[in-house]
Amino acid sequence: MLGILGGRVYDPQHGKDGEVGDIWVKDGRVVAAAEVDRGRAEVVDAAGLVVMPGGVDIHAHIVGGEVNAGRKMRPEDHRGHERARSGTMRAGAGGTVPSTYATGYLYSELGYTTVMQASAAPLVVRHTHEELEDTPNLDNGAFIVMGNNHFVMKAIADKQPERARDYVAWLLGASQGYAIKVVNPGGVENWKWGRNVAELDDEVIGYGVTPRQIVQTLAGIADDLGLPHPVHIHGINLGRHTSARTSIEMIEALDGHRVHLCHLQFLSYGPGPGHVHRSEAAAVAAAVNARPLVTVDVGQVIFGSATTMTCDGPLQHRLHVTTGGRWINDDVESESGGGIVPITYKASNPINATMWLTGLELFLLIDDPWRVYLTTDHPNAGCFTSYPQVIRLLMDRGYRREMFDKLHPRARKGALLPELDREYSLGEIAIITRAGPARTLGLAAKGHLGVGADADITVYEEHDDKEAMFARPRYVYKGGVLVARDGAAVADVAGRTFSVAPPYDPAIETDLRTFFKEAYTVSFDNYSVLAGGAHTEQVACG
Ligand SMILES: [Zn+2]
Repeated sequence: MLGILGGRVYDPQHGKDGEVGDIWVKDGRVVAAAEVDRGRAEVVDAAGLVVMPGGVDIHAHIVGGEVNAGRKMRPEDHRGHERARSGTMRAGAGGTVPSTYATGYLYSELGYTTVMQASAAPLVVRHTHEELEDTPNLDNGAFIVMGNNHFVMKAIADKQPERARDYVAWLLGASQGYAIKVVNPGGVENWKWGRNVAELDDEVIGYGVTPRQIVQTLAGIADDLGLPHPVHIHGINLGRHTSARTSIEMIEALDGHRVHLCHLQFLSYGPGPGHVHRSEAAAVAAAVNARPLVTVDVGQVIFGSATTMTCDGPLQHRLHVTTGGRWINDDVESESGGGIVPITYKASNPINATMWLTGLELFLLIDDPWRVYLTTDHPNAGCFTSYPQVIRLLMDRGYRREMFDKLHPRARKGALLPELDREYSLGEIAIITRAGPARTLGLAAKGHLGVGADADITVYEEHDDKEAMFARPRYVYKGGVLVARDGAAVADVAGRTFSVAPPYDPAIETDLRTFFKEAYTVSFDNYSVLAGGAHTEQVACG
């Protein structure tokens, strides 16, 4: 039993915006004061401190095939980021793609307690789950890529949406996944022929379906199945000067559906002078503001070293050609593809500088903080360890201006950012880093401090420098256990993996056996991840 007493509580879901209050914890959950024997409870004096729910990251790449390949690809990235073993705490390596233990500890040290793995191809999802289990101090879940899946595209081509729905329901259960992920719908399949898609109505080679049909079908399935999280979309033309236009067309095409658009910064550019993109954040934010069922995360660029990794194979090839760096291409049979390219973002590079200000403009122009979330698409736009810097940029316009003045002049010319005076409040930061993502993920016990919530609690010392404040929480509790203190991880607890298993017509399995014989290197019977480990928790659909 634990009491965190007299802190200034920021719990936006319950309308608490810094009011002084007590939080009581029993058996890993927040409980009413009456349920606790005060004489026996451990008591933390939080007077003058800021108390928030544990952070919830809605989109990061922390485990699995692409992350492990990134680790192996960049030995130089680990240098200077070693973590020695100490006591029961395990050794590891940090850098832009930290090892599993280091990932758990580093998130704890920032006050985060839940992180969703943004992509996993079902064929290789066992590795994802093994690494999730090996990542301490975080509850988690995996988004399953389906936007270039042969079975889905064939069902759409055959005008059999219910067949696609049964397959998706089966696949989520078979892979122990949490949500439907779409990456460059149709484009990754076309990349297998050296091509891509550029418009929502371009054709996918061999299937005759379009990106528009793929996203509309999958968004409809997520709604039909009552999945806790809507379809999670990385759109088409990522990084291109046509991306803002197609992002807005995507939002319009999905009108009426719940939809989450990830790392939207990378998809909010228009054509600028010369070869430099221009930020179209204002137009994209207006489209988001106009449709209350749309949520987004930003994917804010951080200047410095990053490792890009995505299922968007054609994008990664283009990035490799542009930067001349190392490159891995991957192909996951009939399911997906992908690539990895290291990158360094520089304020002195006009394209990188434009990306940086595009992200901040999205944060500042999307009116409702409940629908825009803090991410760096870790490790694509920067490492999650830079979140405190992003928080300072949002809360402190003087600091933002100082950084803006260092950008390449071509990026600064005509930019909207210096005109945006908005500063986020602490309550709004609690929304974009906890309450909002938890709500959109459908995780009822996360992102708030009401009775019944998981006792994931972060206590900060308030500081004028918000980067310093958020970089070093005084106490971080995961399920009521103190896991970090004064910015250092002090304990190692197992996390839980959330998954869904929506019902489906078992007749689909007969078709799937035939499909597996024709298209897969593994047999149908060996494909499914076995359900029900000690670390898994099924979240209800409907
Ligand atoms: Zn991502």
